[in-house]
Amino acid sequence: PIRTRFAPSPTGFLHIGGARTALFNWLFARHHGGTFYLRIEDTDRARSTQAAIDAILEGLTWLGLDWDGDVVSQFERAPRHVEVVDELLAAGKAFKCYCTTEEVQVLRDQAFAEGRALRSPWRDRPASEAPAGTPFVVRFRAPDSDVVLDDAVQGTVRWAAKEFDDLILLRSDGSPTYNLAVVVDDHDMGITHIVRGDDHLVNGGRQSQIYDALGWDRPVFAHVPLIHGQDGKKLSKRHGALGAEAYRDMGYLPEGLRNYLLRLGWAHGDQEIFSDEEAIAAFTLDGLNKAPARMDLDKLNHINGHHMARAADVRLVELVMPFLDVLEDRIADTQITRERLLAAMPVLKTRAATLEELARQSYFLLRPRPFRLEGKAAKPLDDEARQRLYRLFTRLSDLDGWTDEALAAELKNFAEAEEVGFGKVGQPLRAALTGGAPAPDLSLVMAFLGRGEALDRIKDQMM
Ligand code: GLU
Repeated sequence: PIRTRFAPSPTGFLHIGGARTALFNWLFARHHGGTFYLRIEDTDRARSTQAAIDAILEGLTWLGLDWDGDVVSQFERAPRHVEVVDELLAAGKAFKCYCTTEEVQVLRDQAFAEGRALRSPWRDRPASEAPAGTPFVVRFRAPDSDVVLDDAVQGTVRWAAKEFDDLILLRSDGSPTYNLAVVVDDHDMGITHIVRGDDHLVNGGRQSQIYDALGWDRPVFAHVPLIHGQDGKKLSKRHGALGAEAYRDMGYLPEGLRNYLLRLGWAHGDQEIFSDEEAIAAFTLDGLNKAPARMDLDKLNHINGHHMARAADVRLVELVMPFLDVLEDRIADTQITRERLLAAMPVLKTRAATLEELARQSYFLLRPRPFRLEGKAAKPLDDEARQRLYRLFTRLSDLDGWTDEALAAELKNFAEAEEVGFGKVGQPLRAALTGGAPAPDLSLVMAFLGRGEALDRIKDQMM
């Protein structure tokens, strides 16, 4: 059975690269009917915070990436890590190193000058030579053979033995290091596939050495290129604005962001828009790109717009509410607001790439009257136009059937009767009905507003 995991360090937001890593692992597990685990790598006690853990869980939940079983805390597994280090010590695959920090620095400089990684003199020295009570770390005895990693994305990657040092497994305070903890946890959790950023490729080599030393099967590694910015530079974890919740607050739908992230480094022919079912069915490691993907907000908007148009009207009504507040605080969350939004949603949702834009596109429906029209918005409303609005008001008051079609026909007839081009009717009417806010065709605007509200808005501006 396939088992994947997402293993974030809780030192900040669920940033966009982490969200993509989680998505790939989630999709791969779901594709195979396998299991997707969440492990919080909280061994760095100084930098790990509960707030970051909460943000990560919230981000994943919002994105709809549900994990199986309980969240695993790496820190809580420290006794197990120490146990495995003891096994390595007993087998002679690890050793206690009594070098001081200063000695290590000298050795490191020397190794560097010779073009190789650090080897501790204690790999061959009996511990009895160390003065009693000297602090020590436990180091891995780096093997003398080349390291070969068959990566599902990068292909075969090879390192000379001398490139890997005698890695610290346990610090002098007895705490396990990242590479050791990851190997033990992934093994114990039965992880079969590890998809993660290629900033961990070298760690993949080191971890392979540890798997081999323990006689454990290695998982399949797939190191995906990191996401780059539009300028080609690496996106940094510390870009706070790029946390998943920042995208939520900008008005993206979780399925829109998910679809975008999927396409950021993975391809399936030239298909751009995926439902979840399609993504799960299509996702294999073969589709992962070897070249780094670039952030592209236009593409995100484009993809999100597709998902907006597919989303259920009632759901969009709920989701757009907080964005309306930002536009104008007099828009109240009332029954009327919801009814108007719901009636217009089939049209509105095709006109907006994000919820924020949907709010702007919905504003004309909800803005409280009377409008104070100034400057450009008031320009179409000269005396002649306001008199014409009066005549239109009279005609519309008598109209049977307040539908889009009936209203469109009536406006056309009215312009003909007035012997003017449609613009002479349409511009002042639009100003009166919307106050210049973005809106669809006027007949639709009036249909969505309903007879009472539409006529009231005209009355406010007519002469
Ligand atoms: N905790 C590591 C990180 O957040 C990920 C380790 C891994 O996926 O193996 O970068």
